[in-house]
Amino acid sequence: MNNLSLPFVCGDIVAKTTGDYTFEGVVVAAFNKKSGAVRYVVEDGRGLLFIFNPTSLVLKQIIGENMSKVTCPYCNEPAKLITGDKLYPHRRDLYHKFFYQCAPCKAYVGCHPDSTKPLGRLATAELRKAKQEAHVAFDSIWRHGDLPRWEAYKWLAKELNIPADTCHIGQFDTSQCRRVIEICNRR
Ligand SMILES: [Zn+2]
Repeated sequence: MNNLSLPFVCGDIVAKTTGDYTFEGVVVAAFNKKSGAVRYVVEDGRGLLFIFNPTSLVLKQIIGENMSKVTCPYCNEPAKLITGDKLYPHRRDLYHKFFYQCAPCKAYVGCHPDSTKPLGRLATAELRKAKQEAHVAFDSIWRHGDLPRWEAYKWLAKELNIPADTCHIGQFDTSQCRRVIEICNRR
């Protein structure tokens, strides 16, 4: 990519604007056809490569820039959009997935498949561990069969004194996770 007049560069996140399906991916290369027309090679969240005409693409985000509306709940600064290779150098399968990260707080969150839409809020290692432990404690209640899952959630919401529709362990902070563990172990 040496032609500076190109609308996109490697690392840009682009979305498709035409057609009857949605597509989001990272520009990984550009090339000229014999006619001189430019085509972009764009990689999606699964690592598949697609070739697009620039007129059917729009720039969504520049990877690594603080352009996101996702903020870090610990310091309130905007989070950076990054790819999985930065967080998990040993997990090739995660290289193409998107994450939002706040490096100073060591907090991050993954995205929904093939998109830059975050799965929840950014979490530190401490919160990720607390959520895992809360899930282990809570899942044992409905997995061992004395309550169906939806009823177990209803019970948990009542115990936590929160509305059932906001009762998602994924959205809890560390102290809420600790309460879940306590309540579930007491049951
Ligand atoms: Zn932060």
